[in-house]
Amino acid sequence: MERINSSGSGRQSTVWVSASAMSEVLKAKRRIRDHIIETPTIYSTDLSSLHGAEVFLKMEHHQITGSFKLRGATNTILQLTKQELSRGVVTASTGNHGRAVAYAAKAAGSSATICMSRLVPENKVSEIIQLGADVRITGSSYDEAESELGRLVNEEGRVIVHASDDPAIIAGQGTIGLEIVEAVPNVGTVLVPLGSGGLSAGIASAVKAMRRHARVIGLTMERGAAMKASLEAGHPVQVKEYESLADALCGGIGLNNKLTFTLCRDLLDDVILLSESEISAGIRYAYDHENEVLEGAGAIGVASLVAGKIPRIQGPTVVVLSGRNIGSELHRRLIAGEHVPFGEPGDGNDHN
Ligand SMILES: *Cc1c(COP(=O)(O)O)cnc(C)c1O
Repeated sequence: MERINSSGSGRQSTVWVSASAMSEVLKAKRRIRDHIIETPTIYSTDLSSLHGAEVFLKMEHHQITGSFKLRGATNTILQLTKQELSRGVVTASTGNHGRAVAYAAKAAGSSATICMSRLVPENKVSEIIQLGADVRITGSSYDEAESELGRLVNEEGRVIVHASDDPAIIAGQGTIGLEIVEAVPNVGTVLVPLGSGGLSAGIASAVKAMRRHARVIGLTMERGAAMKASLEAGHPVQVKEYESLADALCGGIGLNNKLTFTLCRDLLDDVILLSESEISAGIRYAYDHENEVLEGAGAIGVASLVAGKIPRIQGPTVVVLSGRNIGSELHRRLIAGEHVPFGEPGDGNDHN
């Protein structure tokens, strides 16, 4: 297993950043408390016997809007002024953040415009439209959809709600880390789905501030993993985007990444890659053994345990189930054991 090394000076600055991140997480907890669900953390008998150590599931897929993204979006939108709310908010999204922003904006009496690429699954797009948001589909990658943002800010005066690389977003997602330590005080390992790193940065900041020796491991798909490629390069890099069952983990981290790259570099103990068929097996296992419907990104922690890719170490393992927004037809096919050709070379899903 590979370790991600950090340079000495980088680590020092990150210790400071993560200490201040922790105080932001505590403020976020108070700010969003009445607007989100504090999801349960439950013991899994089947995964514990499979793993050979205690396993707990953080049920964040039962969050309002079907993913944890509501925490960061709510923490951001609740800090906007009346004047900013009246201008409306805008964001680029792989789907779940857009739905969370649409929901939180509506709850705050504002309006939202959500920019998405053609890769975003239909079920996610229609949920966002149902919340009354204005949807713009542009390009065939998250990065292309994001390029529409600047125009909307300049021409329509809308306020950007970033998807991950922003202190308010990281702090909001970090509240999950507080709840994990409250529920499982002797936590040894936390398994976190890793996309552009807001969830991992937030959870790792909070968990490591309270439990210095706990390990936080990022999990992502094999192809098009932008944070993994960036950590290996030592700086943010752009990768080609592929279609994946873990669609919520796709998209770049931004070449001008300010926070999530450094926090992930210095706080994650490992980044582990899962193949499409392993992710599919995770979705199936969660349904068969836990009666839980999970989207690919949400099931990637279960997938990593089923694939035997997580070393057993001291203390319980907490798996963050991050989302449930999978199309019902795709889910039916996957749990029936059907082979759904996602992200395989030559399957015709190879965008740009
Ligand atoms: C966004 C998302 C992730 C990844 O979060 P990042 O902050 O982008 O790393 C994981 N799972 C689900 C369901 C998501 O919507």
